[in-house]
Amino acid sequence: MERILVSACLMGRRVRYDGGAKTSTDALLAEWREEGRLVPFCPEVEGGLPTPRPAAEIEGGAGGAAVLAGAARVLATDGQDVTGAFLAGAQAALAVAGSFDIKMAILKEGSPSCGALAIYDGTFRGRRLPGQGVTTSLLELHGIKVFTEEHIAEAGDYLRALEA
Ligand code: SF4
Repeated sequence: MERILVSACLMGRRVRYDGGAKTSTDALLAEWREEGRLVPFCPEVEGGLPTPRPAAEIEGGAGGAAVLAGAARVLATDGQDVTGAFLAGAQAALAVAGSFDIKMAILKEGSPSCGALAIYDGTFRGRRLPGQGVTTSLLELHGIKVFTEEHIAEAGDYLRALEA
C-alpha cells in the first residue's frame, strides 16, 4: 500500500504558526486516513520552531528552490532569520518520506514550507504569487509528487496510477 505524506495541520493537528489547525474534511482524505495511508508531518515544528510562532515568508517571494540554493532567506514577522529551521524541517520531511518509500504528498497551499502552487510574496501583506515552499521544493527535487489540499481528486488519480 502506498503511503502519503500529509501536512499535519490538514489532519487537525494544532501546529500552525497561530496555534491552530486547517483541518480538511475531504472524503477521500478521510478514506485514506482510515486505510492507514497517511503520514502526518509538520516541517516547521520538526525543524525546531515553537507553536505558536511568528508568521514567516520567503524574502522576495523567491520560492523554496532559492532557499535550498542559499539564494533567499525565510524571515519571520519579528525579523528573525528562520531559514535554518525551514531547511531542517524540509530535510526531516524528506527523511520520513524515504522511510515509508513515499512517492506523493498532500501539503497545505500557501505555506512557506508546504505551498505547492502558491506562496506569499515576502511583504507580509497577504499577497500570493506562484511558487513553492521549502519542503515542497525539496520533496519534488527528489521525485515526490506534491498536491495541495485543493487538488485531492487529482491526487487520487495519481495514487490509482501508482498502484495500477
Ligand atoms: Fe501545516 Fe506545513 Fe505549516 Fe506545518 S509547516 S503548520 S504542516 S502548512
